[in-house]
Amino acid sequence: MKSVDLSGQKVVSARDVEAAVAAGATELVLCPRAIVTPTARDLMRRHGCAVRGDGASPGTPVASPGSAPAKLFASPEAEAAKAEIIAVGRKLWQRQYVDGNGGNISFRLGENAVICTPTLVSKADLRPEDLCLVDFEGRQVAGARARTSEILMHTEIYKAVPEAKAVVHCHPPHATAYAITGRVPPTCVIPEYEVFVGNVALTRYETPGTQEFADAVLPFVRKHNTVLLANHGIVCWADTVTHAEWYAEVLDTYCWTLMLASQLGAPITHIPEEKAADLLAIKKRLGLPDARLDGDIKECQLCDLPDLPGAIAVPPRGHGPCSGNDDGHDDIVQAVTDAVMAALAKA
Ligand SMILES: [Zn+2]
Repeated sequence: MKSVDLSGQKVVSARDVEAAVAAGATELVLCPRAIVTPTARDLMRRHGCAVRGDGASPGTPVASPGSAPAKLFASPEAEAAKAEIIAVGRKLWQRQYVDGNGGNISFRLGENAVICTPTLVSKADLRPEDLCLVDFEGRQVAGARARTSEILMHTEIYKAVPEAKAVVHCHPPHATAYAITGRVPPTCVIPEYEVFVGNVALTRYETPGTQEFADAVLPFVRKHNTVLLANHGIVCWADTVTHAEWYAEVLDTYCWTLMLASQLGAPITHIPEEKAADLLAIKKRLGLPDARLDGDIKECQLCDLPDLPGAIAVPPRGHGPCSGNDDGHDDIVQAVTDAVMAALAKA
């Protein structure tokens, strides 16, 4: 590899890159604050130049031109996915679902590849050349910037859920408010939420970016397209990047609406169970996952209602298809029944 040092230049233009490539450069060393013109970036990509400095971590791989990863990363499907990721990143930022450089977006490309957002870039400022290509183990195979540190959560979801083509992780404030209380919103309030999200799951807390963090979502992702991450945010998967972002919108708006309603001084009314069953039937027709759809839904308790009138938070369900709001609920009912029967027997 031949490095050409451009770190003395505040602005790197196409002419600089052409001159470096003509001199045999395969790696360019840039000043961390250098402004790189879009044409210069295009040229770097076209010539497969590795880049150091410029926010990319040293040694971040850039696939050599003509290699399989480079071809895949420049394929029409990849370019369309990059455009969609950038549009969704802007939506997330405009809706205030991502703060600082928070959140990450990915798209499954073929058998063993995922396009994802880089670390340390605001989702409002993404450009096609910022995106990365990784394999299913999270190893970066193309892209000049370093991949998101939370990629393992995405790749584990792709491995566990064949239908998942896109994953969006973000920190929407109203949904995250639930994620820091250990509670989830009750169901059977608004039809759109029931159909597109419904019965959201909540993970245990783990340090972001670790394998444990990725493993924490796995028990839930086959039966839920949207999961609250304890003390962190949310993750959604879908058939497209746009749809995964929709689920974030549906969940956050729902949480927000519940919070507003709780200030009105009147109890929230709930959709009756038989009507909720209609919504679940629609959900089934759309092919969307829901833990309540497992087996015979008539045997499941469809609505998670709060014990206290006016409450807008309930304990999360367990993993089972029909498990109630709180593990051990049946045991408590049985214990109370036994105590009452014993008291009656004595009377
Ligand atoms: Zn996060």
